[in-house]
Amino acid sequence: MKYLDNKTKIIATIGPATSSRETLKKIIQTGVNVCRINFSHGTHADHLEVIDRVRSIDEEFEIHTGILADLQGPKIRIGEMGEGREVAVGDILQFTTDDSNNGAIWINYKNFPRDVKPGENILLDDGKFKFEIVSSDNKSTIEAKVIFGGLLKSRKGVNLPDTKISMPCLTEKDLVDLEFALEHDIPWVGLSFVRSADDVIELKSRIAKAGKSSKVIAKIEKPEAVLNLERIIEEADALMVARGDLGVEIPLEEVPLIQKSIVQQCRNKAKPVIIATQMMESMINSFAPSRAEVNDVANAVLDGADAVMLSGETSVGKYPVEVVDTMMKIVMRIEQSEQIYNTEIFPEDVPERFITDSICNSAAQLAKAAKATGVVTMTFSGYTAFKTASYRPNGFIFVFTANRKILDMLSLVWGVKSFYYNEFVSTDHTIDEIKLFLKEYTYAQFGDYVVHIASMPIARKGMSNMLRISHIK
Ligand code: PGA
Ligand code: MN
Repeated sequence: MKYLDNKTKIIATIGPATSSRETLKKIIQTGVNVCRINFSHGTHADHLEVIDRVRSIDEEFEIHTGILADLQGPKIRIGEMGEGREVAVGDILQFTTDDSNNGAIWINYKNFPRDVKPGENILLDDGKFKFEIVSSDNKSTIEAKVIFGGLLKSRKGVNLPDTKISMPCLTEKDLVDLEFALEHDIPWVGLSFVRSADDVIELKSRIAKAGKSSKVIAKIEKPEAVLNLERIIEEADALMVARGDLGVEIPLEEVPLIQKSIVQQCRNKAKPVIIATQMMESMINSFAPSRAEVNDVANAVLDGADAVMLSGETSVGKYPVEVVDTMMKIVMRIEQSEQIYNTEIFPEDVPERFITDSICNSAAQLAKAAKATGVVTMTFSGYTAFKTASYRPNGFIFVFTANRKILDMLSLVWGVKSFYYNEFVSTDHTIDEIKLFLKEYTYAQFGDYVVHIASMPIARKGMSNMLRISHIK
């Protein structure tokens, strides 16, 4: 199999509905570029099986599928509720961190009674339940009044949009999960509930200390992260608009404009950006998506996201292959629209990067003018791949690298198809070889134009400083 033709990448969360080798193979053949393992569910043994299977499928298909290890972060939950408990508007309830307290609702956040103030809200189960804090004993228990009630069930997630939470971004569980992810050289690590750039810096320094090269995705799902966006984008390698929790922590109607703004700011800085959660939610149980979901995916592609993500749809849904197929069709259709290409983003005025950045920008413009099949770039760090992608050329970005560590990582980046290559004889030789390769694997046909970004002389492996356009012969 060769890489499929979607430029906007598809991420699928893997779970019981998709973890068999057969289904993984099917979803990858249908459109999935990155498999997400979610440490909120499953065991390391389950995750390892998925990692091994994805890698063996890659070998079979001669492609590079990415893996995203998503750390749970300081996710707050309530405890067991037995058969569930009916809570009615106006009731006063107790929440406790004390294991022995009966009658009160247990919560897994030790500092909770000390961090909250009367008047702050507690949201439960994606905001379906709302409580207002009345008082706290500052030790173990708080009292709260029910604003929206219903039948409250076990282990539901808790959001505290008004509270300054003192829990660290990396919990003890996250550190164990991180060690596992690094041990298995997972290219992307997701950091949940990021509040500031320091959270990202801490994770990156742990990865560096372990001698690994995994890149960090900052999940934007807290109001603090929205306020600190600029600095977070600077430090993170990629971002995720994590609409699940974000839509509970801030008013829902704020999410669409924040999504658009995050996408734009990430593209300006050449940081890949993912749109996540509820994109095709109804397909968890139904064979077809709602019209609104089709529009949501289409709009994410039009906004210029690098990737769209599936969660429950592929991890526990009834139609994991069909949902990928449907998403793929929407992506491919919208990508026929001219408006997503070569949108106005210009090289930043940073002297040490100006030459490379202008080369990447001109490559994107040349690809459009020539209706080229793609831009070919050689890279070791991946920099020119990220940069060229940020200009959204009307064509693929064929990335050739001698750095095996970035092959899988690049699968997340818009438009990129990555290949291993390690010959550095001369620029002419490399360009000819790559053209032959693209033709042989039918990524380009006789007569097609290809734009080449290169660094001369090639043996020095320096910054990209050359642009060339040629025909496939
Ligand atoms: P989650 O993150 O699925 O890990 O909660 C995504 C989101 O909150 O949207
Ligand atoms: Mn979340």
